[in-house]
Amino acid sequence: MCELFRKTTSIEEFSKQELFQMAFFETVTNYYNWNWLRERLSFYEEFGLSDFAFVHFDIKDFKMVNELYGHDVGDKLLRRVCRTMDALEWAYFCCRCENDNFAMMIRKMPDDEIQKKLEDMFDSLSVLEEDTQYPIYFRCGVASIDNVSDYRALITDLAKMAQNLGVRANTTEIFFYTNEMKDEQFKSKRIKKELSKAIENDELMVYYQPKFNPVDNSLVGAEALIRWNFKHERMIPPCDFVPYLEKEGAIGRVDNFVLEQVCKNLEQWKKDGVKLVPISVNMSRVQLYSPLIIQNILSIVDKYDVEREYIEFELTESLAYGDVDYMLSVMKQLRKLGFLLSIDDFGTGYSSLNLLSNMPLTTLKIDKSFVDGIGIYEDGRSDYIVKNILDITKHFQIYSVAEGVETIEQKDLLLEWGCNSIQGYYYSKPVPEADFLMLLKRQNSN
Ligand code: C2E
Ligand code: CA
Ligand code: CA
Repeated sequence: MCELFRKTTSIEEFSKQELFQMAFFETVTNYYNWNWLRERLSFYEEFGLSDFAFVHFDIKDFKMVNELYGHDVGDKLLRRVCRTMDALEWAYFCCRCENDNFAMMIRKMPDDEIQKKLEDMFDSLSVLEEDTQYPIYFRCGVASIDNVSDYRALITDLAKMAQNLGVRANTTEIFFYTNEMKDEQFKSKRIKKELSKAIENDELMVYYQPKFNPVDNSLVGAEALIRWNFKHERMIPPCDFVPYLEKEGAIGRVDNFVLEQVCKNLEQWKKDGVKLVPISVNMSRVQLYSPLIIQNILSIVDKYDVEREYIEFELTESLAYGDVDYMLSVMKQLRKLGFLLSIDDFGTGYSSLNLLSNMPLTTLKIDKSFVDGIGIYEDGRSDYIVKNILDITKHFQIYSVAEGVETIEQKDLLLEWGCNSIQGYYYSKPVPEADFLMLLKRQNSN
């Protein structure tokens, strides 16, 4: 390496070699920097390439390596990544862009071949040399020059767009850009922008879907569900905006809105002398993993005169993909504070039964996909699964809810198998607050 840190007063004192080094290499790894790769990307034909694929990746939780093992170990890992990229015979040009971001221009190959080669590369970097128990995961996006129609410079954005899909903890993820992704990305950004206006313009509303005890058909609770009356013109169903807001990290605003609305309604109903039932609100994954989750919840709930036992948080089963210990600790805190906790869509994810026994749950919701199958298969497979899930809930003394119940046959079988409560169109669709209040009052007068 050349000696760059001598005292210099003017540019003439640097040799051409030194200036080249400063322009195209970065100091931590002494490897090519983004300027160097960008030039090759912009003028790839002049660099002898007719086509290529572009790869962009970073190290998941790289700052943890720095925090746990110190910056020297972090820097060594960055250098190792550079050496590894440099040795690949299928990579044309590689660089470290900044921090823990790296980019490569590689040979154009079928996607599965690229996938395999990248997996091999990440495998060879999958543990820290200083502590082979410490796993290293990567988040990687790939775009091909064929994906770029008119504006060449965008290939970097396309690969990063694909890379941004890698949100799961504890695994290396590789995503290939597709043209649909661009439409989706565009849609997400637009919805996020529209959401701010929607909140200001009172376009968001909470509907309540009641839950009933199948033994005596009494009202035992409700789930609060978001509704968006877009520009007061048409209702957009949650499936058309919730997933996009989740992707944009903006779903918290909806969840906060719903929680606040539920607290407001509960306080008012209580004032009116109505006997309350627990109301559940959905909590998205992004929310649960936000560091201020507990303070955030309390800052809303504590403004209202409502007992916490009337508020239930529904967490989806796929939450268990992330950092399980962290998730359990948040759940325990919520329970300790007196809130009810439910696991939503049970059976659709991969939560092990072991995890279930560790979760401080009050409620388990059997997913609609199992309910749909009740009584219809000759081999009775859904019946068998639902019965067994219900046995488990009884064993752990967890309250059970079946969702998406549409027919009397489903309801009767669930009743026979001891399911505690039923939510679904058989009893009621989600309804506006005024209608739900009427149901509550009717229940009170019975
Ligand atoms: P989910 O939490 O599983 O909510 C249940 C969904 O099933 C609701 O759809 C409900 O209307 C629908 N459903 C209930 N009973 C039946 C039935 O008998 N048949 C059929 N076909 N459907 C039934 P909805 O309200 O459209 O919500 C869809 C999803 O959007 C929810 O699924 C939830 O994942 C999400 N969502 C809704 N509100 C919120 C919210 O406030 N925050 C967050 N984070 N997500 C929400
Ligand atoms: Ca739910
Ligand atoms: Ca559900």
